[in-house]
Amino acid sequence: MSTITNHMPTEELQALDAAHHMHPFTANGELAQKGARVITRADGVTLTDSEGNQILDAMAGLWCVNIGYGRDELADVAARQMRELPYYNTFFQTTHRPAIELAQKIAQLAPGDLNNVFFAGSGSEANDTNIRMVRHYWALKGKPSKSIIISRKNAYHGSSVGSGSLGGMSAMHEQGGLPIPDVHHINQPNWWAEGGDMSPEDFGIARAQELEQAILELGEDRVAAFIAEPVQGAGGVIVAPDSYWPEVQKICDKYEILLIADEVICGFGRTGEWFGSQKLDIRPDIMTIAKGLSSGYAPIGGSVVSDEVASVIAQSEFNHGYTYSGHPVAAAVALENLRILEEENILGHVRDVAAPYLKEKWESLVAHPLVGEAKIVGMMGSIALTPHKESRAAFAAETGTVGYICRERCFANNLVMRHVGDRMIISPPLILKPEEIDMLMDRALTSLDECYAQIKADGLLKSA
Ligand SMILES: *Cc1c(COP(=O)(O)O)cnc(C)c1O
Repeated sequence: MSTITNHMPTEELQALDAAHHMHPFTANGELAQKGARVITRADGVTLTDSEGNQILDAMAGLWCVNIGYGRDELADVAARQMRELPYYNTFFQTTHRPAIELAQKIAQLAPGDLNNVFFAGSGSEANDTNIRMVRHYWALKGKPSKSIIISRKNAYHGSSVGSGSLGGMSAMHEQGGLPIPDVHHINQPNWWAEGGDMSPEDFGIARAQELEQAILELGEDRVAAFIAEPVQGAGGVIVAPDSYWPEVQKICDKYEILLIADEVICGFGRTGEWFGSQKLDIRPDIMTIAKGLSSGYAPIGGSVVSDEVASVIAQSEFNHGYTYSGHPVAAAVALENLRILEEENILGHVRDVAAPYLKEKWESLVAHPLVGEAKIVGMMGSIALTPHKESRAAFAAETGTVGYICRERCFANNLVMRHVGDRMIISPPLILKPEEIDMLMDRALTSLDECYAQIKADGLLKSA
């Protein structure tokens, strides 16, 4: 097979990148100084950069390359579909085979009566669909006042105006006039940072009951839906205490508000089940999907909708859609990805091999002097860095200072591990083998040791 070779020196690429390419979620000034890392190719769980470094990608790109890099089957399917029908829309009473087959497959995999799929190009778009769909649903049911969507602080639901409003990232709300009206945020179930003297179980109940308090304060006749990630991803892989989700489900049922599970990260095997909702016993009315749906090989997302909600929406024309809703190439790629996940029993590998082994190793990180809690669900894990474990203290330095140092040590040791503030997170490809887990843990430990030595030397080992 021929390969594409990059003949341009790294510095030249970096200079052009700095001159013309505006990066998402990047300190652009700092980047121009330092130069972006140029990734040239990838295979399995390993990235290669323009300097020839081989880097273990413990983030699966951005939480999405679930089946790993380098699967020719997906490239072949994409090429075949492009030749046969590269594009046609699904508006105005037309359809095509890839969209039909993918919708059917997702309906088959999804729990309960989530049998209907509205396609989008990304998770952000899908959550924008959800905002309009749940409000329209209640309007059609004769309750147009039910327009408020309750979400959580430090949630991530995307970066468009709508989905960024649903999200609870204060740094995002500071820019561009977010949030839109009728989105209400309650506190997150982050026991490590916010649990104080409460037990995790009591704290989980208390944070779930904030949903009920919000419904009562806003008025039951005003609330349309509650949206949440089964496990908060971009917020730092925050795993709620076990008491949290059963209580949330009870409250949604009691007040008949729609529950939207944002499965963009948790879906498609990340937790060891097809969806995080199955792992955590949640019964959503709508699920948001993207990322692992295509393992990132093509951009596609969607809303998986219950029979009840879909039948109400079907009563009239839903004035909504994207040019690329159900894009045939992306849909064909997603279908092939799901075939591989299923036929190679990758969920079984997660459940029986990778996740148990990773959990044992990952949780042992709490023994490190810099690590407070170590949390993991399936193949998504986090550690909280702290200067003082007993008091669960934050660092005196600005949040993220130490996390960034640790991330830089990881990169230097050929490991992609991301930092969210002072939490370090992983979400590796699901195909990770035990020997690759050993490599990941070796590099993580080396990086933690180096980070610890550096912050001690720099006087950063101080509690806030
Ligand atoms: C990434 C993400 C999104 C947004 O998806 P995009 O494809 O980036 O628009 C939404 N929700 C969650 C939970 C995510 O992690």
